[in-house]
Formats: sequence, C-alpha cells, structure tokens
Amino acid sequence: MQPQPSFAAPERGWPPAGLREQCGVLAVSSPGTAAAPLLHLGLLALQHRGQESAGIATWDGVRLHERRGMGLVAQVFDAGAIAALAGEVGLGHVRYATMGSSVLANAQPVIASSPHWGLPVAVAHNGNLVNAPALRAELEAAGARFRRSSDTEAIALLIAHPPAGHERPEDAVASAMQRLEGAFSAAALLGGTLFAFRDRHGIRPLELGRLPGGGWVVASESCAFDHMGAEPVREVAPGELVVIEGAQLRARAVLLPPAPARCVFEYIYFARPDSELAGRNVHRVRRRMGEILAAEHPATADVVFPVPDSGVAAALGYAGASGLPFELGLVKSRYIGRTFIQPGQAARDAGVRMKLNPIRSLAEGQRVVLVDDSIVRGTTSARLVRMLRAAGAREVHLRIASPPIRWPCFYGVDTSSRLELVAGQSTIEQIRAGIGADSLGYLSLEGLVRAIGLERQALCMACLDGRYPTRTPTEAEAGRHALERAEGRESPAGEQAPVLGTPRSAGP
Ligand code: SF4
Repeated sequence: MQPQPSFAAPERGWPPAGLREQCGVLAVSSPGTAAAPLLHLGLLALQHRGQESAGIATWDGVRLHERRGMGLVAQVFDAGAIAALAGEVGLGHVRYATMGSSVLANAQPVIASSPHWGLPVAVAHNGNLVNAPALRAELEAAGARFRRSSDTEAIALLIAHPPAGHERPEDAVASAMQRLEGAFSAAALLGGTLFAFRDRHGIRPLELGRLPGGGWVVASESCAFDHMGAEPVREVAPGELVVIEGAQLRARAVLLPPAPARCVFEYIYFARPDSELAGRNVHRVRRRMGEILAAEHPATADVVFPVPDSGVAAALGYAGASGLPFELGLVKSRYIGRTFIQPGQAARDAGVRMKLNPIRSLAEGQRVVLVDDSIVRGTTSARLVRMLRAAGAREVHLRIASPPIRWPCFYGVDTSSRLELVAGQSTIEQIRAGIGADSLGYLSLEGLVRAIGLERQALCMACLDGRYPTRTPTEAEAGRHALERAEGRESPAGEQAPVLGTPRSAGP
C-alpha cells in the first residue's frame, strides 16, 4: 500500500508551483525598418512564456545595442528605450528561469565578446542543456570567462570561441549545435547576421515567419507573427540551422538524422491558443483533447465547468461531445500577483478563492464536471473541489485533459523533482481520494496523440511515459541551480538540489 498523497504540503509561493516554461525567443531581420519596435510587439505576444525578465539586442551595422531588465516587457521597455535600440536586425527574449537564478545578469539576450570575430555575439535561448556543467568546465579550461549561471552563456561562448578551422560564423554556429545536449530552440546575432537553430529533437518550438517588406521573423510561437504583421511560413525543423542576412534566408540540416520529439505540454498548456505549432492550432488541439476525454471518461452530471484559463478549450470540447451544458462556473481574477505566501490551510484556501471564485447560483445542487489541463501537485485541484462543494455542488467529477505527470522534465520546464509530482507518488484512486472528487479521469496517452494529430514517435511525452529523447542529466547536472552548485555557490534561500526520478527507459 502506497502512502496517501499529502495535499497540505507547505508551498514555496502562490499560486502553487505548477508547470512553468522557460522562455520565449524572438529574432527579426527587417530591411528598411527598425527592428526594435517589431521585437517589442512580438515580445508582448510571448509574455506568457516568461515574466521574470525581458531583453532586446539590435545591431545597427556598427555596434550592438542592448537593453535587459527584470520584470514584464512593459516594465522593461518604454518608447525611449525602444528608440535607442537602433538597427534593422535584432533578438528578443522573455525569461522564466529553469537554469540559473532569476537575476539581471542571467536576463537574455546573453552577450559574449569574441576576439576571434572582433564582434560581440548575442544569444537568446529556450530549453535546457543537460551537459551545461561539462561544457562550462571545458570552456573555462580553454580560457573562456563565464559571467553568468545560466546554460545559455555556454552557447554564446561556443560561438564566440570556435574551434580552429571554422572561419565562417555559420560553421561556428553549426559546430556549437553539435556540442549541445538537451533542448535548445535558439537565435544568435553576430554582426548583421541572424542564426536560428533547434536541437535534433525540436523539443521546444521555433517558428519562421515572413514580414510584408521582405524581412524574416523567428519566434517561439506564431502568435508573435500576428502582433508583428508577419505571415507564418513553417517551423524551423528539428536539427536545422537557418541563416538570415537582410531579406536573404538559407537553411541547412546540421544535426542528422533529425529525431523529432516535440513537447506535448506546449499543446496541453504552455502555448497560446492562437498559436500554430508544427502546423497544429493549439486551441483546436485542446478542444479535441476535451472531446476525446469525454469519450474516455464520461460522467453522469448536469454541467461542465472549466478551470480558467487553461481548461477552457478542453471543457468546451468535453461539453460539446457529452451534450452537457458548458458554464463559466469559476471566475478568475486577473489582478492577483504570484508572490504572496500564506501559511495555513484556511489562508491558502482564501488565497485560491481570491484567484478563482465559484458562481454559487451555477454550482448549487449541481453535479459538476470540472475540467483542467493537468495536475502537478494536486493542491489547487483539492481546493477547487472544496470550494465547489462549499458553493453547493452535489458532486464534483474532475476530468484532466492530459495523462498523469509522473516524471520530471529536463528540457526547460520547472518540474525537476519527481517528489513534487503527485502522480509520481500515488495511484489515480489515491489522487482522487486526496483531492476529494467524486470521480477522476485523465486523458489517455493514445487520446493525447490523437488530439495533437502528429505521430507518437514525433512527440516528447517523457514526463508522462518516462521515455526521454536524450540522455538524462545526472543529479549534479539537473535543476535550476546546477551551475551555481557546480561553482560551490549557494542556491537561493529555500531552494535545494532536486530529487530526481529514475526514467524507466531512455527513449529513441
Ligand atoms: S518531458 Fe514533458 S514537459 Fe518536458 S519537454 Fe517532454 S513533454 Fe514537454
């Protein structure tokens, strides 16, 4: 008998730590037009991918301009700051840190000087490198100087200090790609040339768009193109290097053979619903997940409520397929910050109610199907079920539009400890009992694959099935503070080295 899951574990912040992604990457080459205003618009569209810091670097033909700051895009940039970023080519980034502390030094784009090129190298990166500590040790032994504790600096320094015989910047970037292990969807700027490149598995997304004047945009998600007036063209292929000079673009396959393993959680949760990833609209995929969930786990109920916002599309699908009415039975406040910590169960319940509050007249006397995108710790689900019962719901049937998360992610999502995952510790029945729902049903792996519409072997589902597309990091290599620990620096207060799960197998 496994122990019952604890749903009252102390939390480090509020809302409870869930799945958080790492970053948004943006690159623009806009001949005849200033790049910074376009980058600013695109970063606003990518804000959901990281709220800890933001930055832009541009090249004006002579020198690099940069501005990076802590906080939201709107806090870091005003009209004056944008005007000062001269040039028609540049990079942008929004960050949520999954390797390296959330400090200004780690804000991106990362800039490294390069005596070899006589130019600075700027890099913006989404993903996590599993070999960052080894690369860092090797580069330091060769004389490179690190100034930050994020893995992105290793990419910049590999390009800045290419091996002998790599006299074209393009070859230096290709050589760097071959040295990196893990997830990287990245862009680099060297002089006026932009490079966009993706790991062999294409774990994190990277999309290519065209500006009306003939320029190019590369972005983590295509929703940025809409803000910038660009048209989506295609994704940057797994293992591909795209080189952009002015309006000219060429591409080459560098990491062969490509072995696509696109992150399914981009479709389940991370990406904006108006984005197209690998040709699939995210909202439609989520809706389909809800339809399949309804077929796999029907409920005898009166009404379907989504957990806003991430459960809305799946709940629409569930309601449509089941014939049950859809109601916005939980109201979300847009104005509650992330940062207050409340001790005690009652205070934490009150905190959740400030963020999500049931409409009593919709819940009273009803058998409610509550649809959410995923369960990480189970704490929020348990509170929502309690709140709905307190609002008069007769029954609460919880339906989850993804399979149970049982394994940690090492590719740029902040769940590096298996102990944080309730489904890593407990059976479904134990989770249901801990949450206090009348029934609990998760979408199956097969249902998820059908909803996305890509081949199963082209998807990363490692946190669901334990089949990792790359080597998994050692305990010393894993976690947000791996590079700080390697240097003998303390992790910030309250944060410890992760406790890792053991993958069942290394996937192809
Ligand atoms: S392990 Fe999970 S969250 Fe991480 S990249 Fe793979 S599917 Fe995405």
